[in-house]
Amino acid sequence: MADLFKYTKELSELLESSDNILLISHINPDGDAIGSQIALYKYLLYKGRNVSMMCPNNLQEFLKWMDGSELIDVFIRDRKKCKRIISDSDLIIMLDFNHPGRLGEAEEHVTSSNAPRVIIDHHLEPHPFASLTITDPSRCSTSELVYELVLAMEGSPFADRAFAEAVYVGIVTDTGNFEYGSYTGRTLKITADLIDSGIERDRILNAVYNNFSSDRMRLLGYALHQKLVILDEYRTAYIALTRKELADFNHVKGDTEGFVNMPLSIKGINFTVLFLEKDNFVKISFRSKGNFAVNEFASRYFNGGGHMNASGGEYYDTLDNTIEYFLKVLGEIGEKPGNAI
Ligand code: 5GP
Ligand code: MN
Repeated sequence: MADLFKYTKELSELLESSDNILLISHINPDGDAIGSQIALYKYLLYKGRNVSMMCPNNLQEFLKWMDGSELIDVFIRDRKKCKRIISDSDLIIMLDFNHPGRLGEAEEHVTSSNAPRVIIDHHLEPHPFASLTITDPSRCSTSELVYELVLAMEGSPFADRAFAEAVYVGIVTDTGNFEYGSYTGRTLKITADLIDSGIERDRILNAVYNNFSSDRMRLLGYALHQKLVILDEYRTAYIALTRKELADFNHVKGDTEGFVNMPLSIKGINFTVLFLEKDNFVKISFRSKGNFAVNEFASRYFNGGGHMNASGGEYYDTLDNTIEYFLKVLGEIGEKPGNAI
């Protein structure tokens, strides 16, 4: 675990000396991206700071209930306003990612800004594009890290309902409700404190997990029944969904969240992949059990990255060609997923 105290002085000084602080999280923001962003936002607001929030693209439906989510500006929805906010900021804090490519269309504006940039993140191998990089890959979520940083800066837990809920959402979503991910005893202690602080746990879990459309349930059934491919030899399973298939089930952002994890519960399967056909590329999610490092696989072959057991990437070709390429590299890699558990 990284020593957070060595960062907090520098972070506090930056926060205190900045007039316009921008918090920005990554493209296709997940529960941890939005959770860590809203949590830090609520804290900075309490400290009397001028602070705004931005995402490169839209939030997933299952996060839109969160207190504060309505205040997040979306770059591709309002480019003019977002460019102005970026250029007016004198401190940019980037949450839950560590590579400029994750900023989507906002990348060139953020990286050309003269404002100091801070990374707060828990992914491996940070790219050096910030003046202060606060990173701890042993943490289950960036939200946990934000909780710890605020605790360290304040000297006592920050008692604020929206802050607690946002941290809880980040922890819950990045661990699949404590099913996977690098959560620790410390995570559970923090979670216990959040629950004891009075957050409405059941309401939050319902909002995050029990809020899908019936179409989404049918899409999941279709994906598992009709589209699951098992490659026994590689202990690998994958699902590929075309744009037409997604449209047939009235897909909305967030509907396929979690699909990639499911085949990992098949005995003997160590590596799972979900391919989603987009306009001119394929978005890919990777998951593994054991020591097959999907972040290395994603960064070597699919312009991506992430965590050892949960990563993503993209490939600019047709869906068929992407799968063909995937099968080729799977056959070529020295360390087979099947050997790696
Ligand atoms: P998901 O499969 O849920 O989209 O993403 C799983 C993990 O991989 C997340 O931690 C996410 O930050 C990371 N990830 C997903 N897509 C990409 C990508 O295109 N590039 C990089 N560097 N990381 C990604
Ligand atoms: Mn995260």
